[in-house]
Amino acid sequence: MPKATHILAIFVVVVVLCLIFSLFSLTMGVAEFQRAGPNMGSLTWILLGIIGLVTALYAIGQLATRISKMPKPKRTITVVRCANCNFQERREFKRGDYVGKKVGKCVKCDGELFIELIYSEVIKRRRII
Ligand SMILES: [Zn+2]
Repeated sequence: MPKATHILAIFVVVVVLCLIFSLFSLTMGVAEFQRAGPNMGSLTWILLGIIGLVTALYAIGQLATRISKMPKPKRTITVVRCANCNFQERREFKRGDYVGKKVGKCVKCDGELFIELIYSEVIKRRRII
């Protein structure tokens, strides 16, 4: 999904710019405050800086929440077992698989192979944040 990655990249750039601007604004405000005391200029810079910081942190929080709620990629596994000798095999789920389905002969003892279990597991991936 290249589009989602694009949007994410733009979002991160905007948030970083917002953070940089806020820090710059705060620094300006504090410097002006120390130089000339509380006046319109210094207080405006400080206020802008605080608003920017809060906005950026809120956006980061929202993003983190959304990412943690995203559905995790899963794969479906079919477990095949021999009725005779307990030989077991796991494989990728195939269309038409169902529990109890007979799927052929055992490679070890020529007994009946059947599907014992179908389950899905989460594919582990690199964390973004
Ligand atoms: Zn067997």
